[in-house]
Amino acid sequence: MTAMLDKITVCLDMHGCPNRCRHCWLGNTPNGHMNVDDLCDVAARFRPHTACLTVYDWYREPDYSDDYRERWELCGRLSDTREEHFELVSVWRAVRDDSYIDWLKRLGMKRAQLTLFGGQETTDYFTGRRGAYDEILRTIELLIESRISPRIQVFVYKDNINELNSIVELITTLNLVERCRDFGGEFGCFVHQGSCDGENERQYDSWVTPAELSLIPPMLTEFTLKHFGKSSLDEVFGETEQSLYERLSADESTVSCVVDEPVFYIDREFDVYPNLSTPSPQWRLGNLKRDGAEKILDCYLNSRSLAQHIRLNTPTRELVLSQGDPTSRRLFWQGDYIELMLNRYCRALMN
Ligand code: SF4
Repeated sequence: MTAMLDKITVCLDMHGCPNRCRHCWLGNTPNGHMNVDDLCDVAARFRPHTACLTVYDWYREPDYSDDYRERWELCGRLSDTREEHFELVSVWRAVRDDSYIDWLKRLGMKRAQLTLFGGQETTDYFTGRRGAYDEILRTIELLIESRISPRIQVFVYKDNINELNSIVELITTLNLVERCRDFGGEFGCFVHQGSCDGENERQYDSWVTPAELSLIPPMLTEFTLKHFGKSSLDEVFGETEQSLYERLSADESTVSCVVDEPVFYIDREFDVYPNLSTPSPQWRLGNLKRDGAEKILDCYLNSRSLAQHIRLNTPTRELVLSQGDPTSRRLFWQGDYIELMLNRYCRALMN
């Protein structure tokens, strides 16, 4: 019997990304060069399995392809929904294509998120591309000229926490709060550690602990609490691994990762993954070209990828006791921590 779901979203990594960020949860895999026929083919394969299909031509850098406008229109025609553009922009394109920001504005974009790690050298290092910082600053100016409010995301590790004052200086020097307010917008900013998967898992040794939180400048703390609607940085950064380990090492629960309206990531080789964690071997559902959508959905719905199978059949306790560190003061959200334990557990099984 054909598998049917209420809604399916598919995201094809057609061109990858110009950056190689050290925090990228999607992983720094090589860029692909897929064409519109590939996109149409992906949509056609999932089409019989839902009455509500949404198609994206990216899951790493949006609008990275030169024909980004045509692809946006095509995604709209292949989809049953008409999505708003995510509040994410291609900085790479913004500084190379004079009409890009205007196009975003015409789509109705009001806010756009950009990522900094500190000053120029540190941001270039963490973005994995020389010149990234200057391009981000130029993009901030272009956004404000178009009356789109920038929102600065800052990833925080032990390695860059002492540089956060440079971001305060930037916000102050560029008068970002006032300039956004002048056109009726609202500047935003937040700091966090991100989830510990993909490239970000390599930052585990530099992961923040409660001792570092007091080093976050008051201005960034204030913006962050407002952004997340929290009353303290402890609430934003979560619990220590020590405390999570203690509680979860008695947790007998198992969990199904299957949801009613799944989102699938499809890489340049047509391998398919649920968007629950980094596209990686333990989450792989199959290859769309070789296996077809029916088999991939069957794999997903019956939790046959290794990671889904382990999460469904192995108590949380076992993942944590096997992979956790009872002495660590690193800070995590519980869900992110369990995912870290699950990914490590799966890799240990595969090795
Ligand atoms: S975090 Fe975003 S911009 Fe950075 S490498 Fe990953 S997909 Fe590209």
